[in-house]
Amino acid sequence: MAAPNIETIVSLSKRRGFVFPSSEIYGGLGSAWDYGPLGVELCNNVKQAWWRWMVHERDDMEGIDSSLILNRLVWKYSGHEETFSDPLVDCRECKTRLRADKLEADAAGKLKCPNCGSTNLTEPRAFNLMFRTTIGAAAVEDDPNALAYLRPETAQGIFINFLNVQTAMRRKIPFGIAQIGKSFRNEVTPGNFIFRTREFEQMEMEYFVRPGEDERVHQEWIDYCHQWFLDLGISAANLRFYEQPKEELAHYAKRTVDIHYRFFPEREDEERQWDELMGIANRTDFDLKAHSKKPEDAEGKRLNPDATDDLSYFDEATKERYYPYVIEPAAGVNRTVLAALMDAYNERTTDKGEKRVILSLHPRLAPIKVAVLPLAKNKPEIVSMAKSIKKELQPSMRAVYDDTGGIGKLYARQDEIGTPFCVTVDHQSLEDEAVTVRDRDTWNQERVKASELADYLKKRLGIKC
Ligand code: ATP
Repeated sequence: MAAPNIETIVSLSKRRGFVFPSSEIYGGLGSAWDYGPLGVELCNNVKQAWWRWMVHERDDMEGIDSSLILNRLVWKYSGHEETFSDPLVDCRECKTRLRADKLEADAAGKLKCPNCGSTNLTEPRAFNLMFRTTIGAAAVEDDPNALAYLRPETAQGIFINFLNVQTAMRRKIPFGIAQIGKSFRNEVTPGNFIFRTREFEQMEMEYFVRPGEDERVHQEWIDYCHQWFLDLGISAANLRFYEQPKEELAHYAKRTVDIHYRFFPEREDEERQWDELMGIANRTDFDLKAHSKKPEDAEGKRLNPDATDDLSYFDEATKERYYPYVIEPAAGVNRTVLAALMDAYNERTTDKGEKRVILSLHPRLAPIKVAVLPLAKNKPEIVSMAKSIKKELQPSMRAVYDDTGGIGKLYARQDEIGTPFCVTVDHQSLEDEAVTVRDRDTWNQERVKASELADYLKKRLGIKC
């Protein structure tokens, strides 16, 4: 099974320390969330899994970490200043502010307010999603020279560094540049927990190819990305591909395929159960050309009079110069975390008829890999053996020690936060130097020698150094 709805995950997250509403003691801040002790581990594990898969395990990839605030001209020439907007409408009846492209129409084709049902809406107007700020101590409000934006995507930081990375690392096309980092969008209608927030984290990669190779490579990345989610344990039945129709495509895109997750399983209409987890776009040569000094219009006028360099590529083998095409897989860290939590959610009834929640997270994503539990906390030898086992394990995996309840309660707590293994130290352990290892998913128990425990767990967790 998976979680029946996002609400189930919201309450589990708060109860067990994954995600808390931000600024709660001041009444909260619309759709902002803070990641707690387990949430930060889960986010880090998602990012590490992505980085390992995308950068370390490939031969054609480099990573970067660019500035969050870039020169304003980046956003001028990328097209964001002019076009990075959503169509905003207001409901004249209940005064709700809405995104026109997300509304349903009535039988007559008129857009309907989801709040009060009225069709008395204002005409859509473009609302730019970029957060504005000012740079410098002397900046006065509205000084156009001081205006800057918080980045709404990490991609542009990659494009403006294309030549730096390519020359510094002596890369030949095809190759990619990956980046993980925060992005900011002043969303008109944030909501659904961490699904849509104004501050979020992206994992993006720009793969540079020779024009003409783009369509094949695009399809390859669509398949790799789908496989990545499957490898993280997300069930195939809750993933689907969504081919963006022409009218939905961004101005730079030739083709975009989204990977959707079933974030809203409770909705009756099957089509409305799905939403975007990741987008894989063929951005053509739009971005590299837009940031280059050479391209000209029909009258021979430079399209970008501000750029100081040209981001074209010279192919030594064919002696050709061209602007590479770009394939972009772009995923959200937060949406991946939400999908992983929803997909891992299971309920099981014990022999005594008690309901237990089990989070069957992939071991790589689990915030805690092993919990070491003493069977009798009033027996100093048992406590001391359990603590030293925990210490021995912690350099190679996230391990915790817990003696704050009876063993049944401790197992239940670890199941609920997705810890793959519990290790119990009991009276017999003092004699045979062995411990009991309990599996989260099967509840099976196995006796393992304490001296072989680290290797045993590493193998079962699939941990690589
Ligand atoms: P949407 O249509 O849902 O607004 P998008 O198509 O604008 O998303 P992209 O620009 O393709 O999103 O961004 C890539 C990824 O970044 C998305 O697939 C999503 O996982 C994540 N993302 C985008 N906007 C948000 C947001 N406001 N909150 C959380 N994650 C987001």
